Amino acid sequence: MSLREFLKEAEKNKQVLHVEDEVSKVFEISHLMKSFDNGGPILLFEKVKGCPVKVVSNICGTRKRICDSLGIDVDELYRRLLWAWRMPKKPRVSKEGPVKEVSEDKVDLTKIPVLTHFEFDAGSYITSGVIHAKSADGRVENLSVHRLQVLSKNQLAIRLVPRHLYKLWSEAKAAKKDLEIAIAIGVHPAVLLAASSPVPFGVNEYDVANALLNDKLHLVSCKNVDAFAPADAELVLEGRISATKEVSEGPFVDVTGNYDIQRKQPVVEVIGIMHRKDYFYEGLLPSGAEHRILMGLPREALIWESVSKVVPRVFAVNLSAGGNGWLHAVISVEKQLDGDGKNALLAAFAAHPSLKHAVVVDSDIDVFDASEVEWAIATRFQAGEDLVLIEKVRGSTLDSSADQETGLTSKMGIDATKPFTKPKEKFDRARIPSTKRVERLVQRLRPV
Ligand code: MN
Repeated sequence: MSLREFLKEAEKNKQVLHVEDEVSKVFEISHLMKSFDNGGPILLFEKVKGCPVKVVSNICGTRKRICDSLGIDVDELYRRLLWAWRMPKKPRVSKEGPVKEVSEDKVDLTKIPVLTHFEFDAGSYITSGVIHAKSADGRVENLSVHRLQVLSKNQLAIRLVPRHLYKLWSEAKAAKKDLEIAIAIGVHPAVLLAASSPVPFGVNEYDVANALLNDKLHLVSCKNVDAFAPADAELVLEGRISATKEVSEGPFVDVTGNYDIQRKQPVVEVIGIMHRKDYFYEGLLPSGAEHRILMGLPREALIWESVSKVVPRVFAVNLSAGGNGWLHAVISVEKQLDGDGKNALLAAFAAHPSLKHAVVVDSDIDVFDASEVEWAIATRFQAGEDLVLIEKVRGSTLDSSADQETGLTSKMGIDATKPFTKPKEKFDRARIPSTKRVERLVQRLRPV
């Protein structure tokens, strides 16, 4: 299963917007990405200034599109994801695959249309690279997404958040060795989603992707490094994360849309490039819908599961756009007794430690409609009774308002479910009876 096959399907469903005009990889493409963000189509930039390679973006820009790529309905998504995390399955690995169609002898990263996104960015950087690495004994494999700043024709700076790849690199560094990696760009959405999943150290995210793809993921071994890449990736960079060389990385924009700080980060020496004959480059807009969804969706699954343990039913979870797909959750539940709403809030905070504000609503509220959520807060919530406030607790480093030295923050939970103790009629929204005739009339009168 490749990104290409998925794109063909999306094309059939009229979900691809072709940009035929020539555009620059510096700001112009990211400007267009931003303009068509939030529920917009896949963008295919056909003509990039000074570069024969096409750029595609916003592949994972909606939940629906991710579900389409997995062949499932939106309401199956969390169950499917949780299942794949717990039932990972080894994919097939072979020596040959479409991504090996072209092997570049001379590495030149400037030939790839890596985008420059925001005004004060330190330069261009790769945002959609999934990075595979192994431990020295080969027992642990890891796949994760990291930003990669282009430093020169054959060098990148990699942002290593202290998680799994950082651990593998630290181990290699302690043995005075560089860490070999494969950076795959232009992969099936399932691979990106698996690479963004919070599975424990030791679980290979490729196995998770393979489970999501019903055992259809196919990997190839690289030529120059001991690492794997999807056989049908568009582009693969083979490299080594240096044990000794560090540079200052950034500043770049993080998921909140604010600038992240500059840090000393390791250098990646790129020693080989392979790609499909007419490969395209995949861009992903930092802080855009795609960034938020890939980061947030797996956490929504964790919240869904955790809250499901304390209330009879969880209908929907939304790590909302305004909360950057990370800091704010709206959860619709069926409660049995008053007080269940607060338990749901506590379960949500436990499932996602970065969560800062959470709202629990009844099933008649659409968690994806901010006005409906506000209406529930306006008519069903009493701050004196229904508010949960937790002070001085560890939160997200992405929250600019948190104490920057200690990382401590305040969390707030809002139980905006209908109270059982008061008359039900006061809380239900009035409806206007509808007929087929009047619905057709609306259709006809609605301005196009
Ligand atoms: Mn991992």
